[in-house]
Amino acid sequence: MAKIGFIGLGNMGGPMAANLIKAQHHVTGFDLVPSALSAFSGNGGHTAASAPEAAGAGEVIVTMLPAGPQVRAVYLGPDGIIARASKGALLIDCSTIDVDTARAVAAEAAKAGLQMIDAPVSGGTGGATAGTLTFMVGGEESAFARARPVLEKMGRTIVHAGASGAGQTAKICNNMILAASMIATCEGFALAEKLGLPAQTLFDICSTSTSQCWAMTGYCPVPGPVPAAPSNRDYAAGFTAANMLKDLRLAQQAAGSAGAATPLGAAAANLYQLYVDGGGGPFDFSGIMRLIRRDKPAD
Ligand code: NAD
Repeated sequence: MAKIGFIGLGNMGGPMAANLIKAQHHVTGFDLVPSALSAFSGNGGHTAASAPEAAGAGEVIVTMLPAGPQVRAVYLGPDGIIARASKGALLIDCSTIDVDTARAVAAEAAKAGLQMIDAPVSGGTGGATAGTLTFMVGGEESAFARARPVLEKMGRTIVHAGASGAGQTAKICNNMILAASMIATCEGFALAEKLGLPAQTLFDICSTSTSQCWAMTGYCPVPGPVPAAPSNRDYAAGFTAANMLKDLRLAQQAAGSAGAATPLGAAAANLYQLYVDGGGGPFDFSGIMRLIRRDKPAD
């Protein structure tokens, strides 16, 4: 049993921390939102009054925060995790953030003698709850080896992608591909609807044909064919459109600095921007079906 500090107990962090508790770890958690903290406590977690207090309580510290600015705020400075962690603690950031922040924060941790990995995830809230996430990890081999037993309690596939920042690189590429395939799936179903072909019929054909993809078979953006998909719950997130837009911006920023051509990634970023501007931000990213159909975001 390890002592684990867990900061960021939202849609993903909440169920991930619950799986660590189920695996008999002693987990001390903190979140800014009181309801997230009380849900964590209901699952058997020990609550801390602040992020530095949770950090000080762990041999391993896991963070699951919205984006780069929150990661910098929580890790750096006199009251940050790096300053308040106990000697030899292992730092694991599972948030999806920009590669530069991931590398900069890991470098600060190294200066303080602490190992840190970036370990963003794929698999959504369903995977977080079931403990079947995919972790893509950037950092030293020895830090990866130390983290593996903890990550295995929250995920099924744990991949060492390379040096610091490599996990974030894999994650933004994955999400850029996912956004483009989700929009293409929405367009196909919207076109079929206009032409009078029922969604279930299109699904039965395409899910076993060459257009098959996870956006369709795991997360179908029209209600019916995949009962667990957010489309059956008025697009309640899941993975919010606002977070998808954040990841698409990260991919565009990285593509710009690397000189990579990503025209579909750019188009996807523009469409998600339109959807978010129209009020779709808090809804699941598959709710972009409403934009493609020209429905209102909350219809
Ligand atoms: P979320 O908004 O539900 O959770 C983030 C939590 O961090 C919130 O509860 C918030 O209160 C807390 N927080 C923010 N600043 C804090 C601080 N200073 N101290 C303590 N807590 C703080 O978001 P989420 O859906 O859980 O996503 C978290 C990360 O995981 C994001 O980077 C997202 O892109 C990524 N991700 C999400 C999904 C998904 O399906 N939701 C899937 C893969 C990756």
